[in-house]
Amino acid sequence: MEIIATPNKTKEILSKYPFVFRKKYGQNFLIDTHVLNKIIKGADIKEDDCVLEIGPGIGSLTQSLALRAKKVIAVEIDDQLIPILKETLGEYENIEIIHQDILKVDLKKLIEDKNNNEPIKVVANLPYYITTPIIMGLLENKLPITSITIMVQKEVAKRLTASPGNKDYGAISLAVNYYAKPKLIANVPHNCFIPRPNVDSAVIKLEVLDEPLVKVKDKQLFFNIIKAGFIQRRKTLINTLYKQKIVSLSKEEMANLFKTIGINENIRAEMLSIYDFAKISDALSKN
Ligand code: SAM
Repeated sequence: MEIIATPNKTKEILSKYPFVFRKKYGQNFLIDTHVLNKIIKGADIKEDDCVLEIGPGIGSLTQSLALRAKKVIAVEIDDQLIPILKETLGEYENIEIIHQDILKVDLKKLIEDKNNNEPIKVVANLPYYITTPIIMGLLENKLPITSITIMVQKEVAKRLTASPGNKDYGAISLAVNYYAKPKLIANVPHNCFIPRPNVDSAVIKLEVLDEPLVKVKDKQLFFNIIKAGFIQRRKTLINTLYKQKIVSLSKEEMANLFKTIGINENIRAEMLSIYDFAKISDALSKN
């Protein structure tokens, strides 16, 4: 089979079917082999890997994955694409298409059934309208996943890879860093897709950690503090924690606690590292 991820092949395939692009499914198909190769290289697919792809579209990325991996499981929501995928990927025996909404798939069971609960890799050109629930769903549920290589909006990529002090640093940066080590693989201009999205994109890789980056006494409190801290990023953390009633302490009591753990009482959330948040959360956990 010819490479699918080119403008001509994509148009040729689509012209054979009464296919209409569904905006609500975030459909932007990749038509650039250069970008495709960067995704594949970044994902570091080995011949005994089992790969989960979210949203195969007409199979552009799926095809390249199938040429390298032992097995590819691709979950696609749009019924229009199922017959197309049967044609474009029919010759690859190591691909299984699942016609489902990824947010409704029991991934724990899927990995158990399809890969004997052995770790898988996730690779996807994500539908942008559900980027965050997909990423957090993959990370939070203690699934056997070694890495997640994904195309996301450039703005999201910046947030996921931002460090303290950066304007893009926020609660989502910390949530992702708790579970994984993020890395930028490539920036992708909007003309690499049909139809062109309104925004530029980027490929990032999340190497999933065996254990969360920090150990905290109370995970719920840790994330509540982070969330509260970034609701009003211009305010000091103590002010927001007090206002949001995250703990039942006065500002003075919090300032004293901060002093004992060596954190400036006037600090804002955006300047704090994940280790600082862990320290603060543990110090506040008794209150
Ligand atoms: N992988 C293809 C490519 O790179 O050309 C298509 C990528 S396109 C950005 C996103 C794909 O995800 C579309 O095929 C879309 O139909 C599918 N999709 C959207 N929402 C989905 C969902 N909830 N579950 C599974 N697939 C979904």
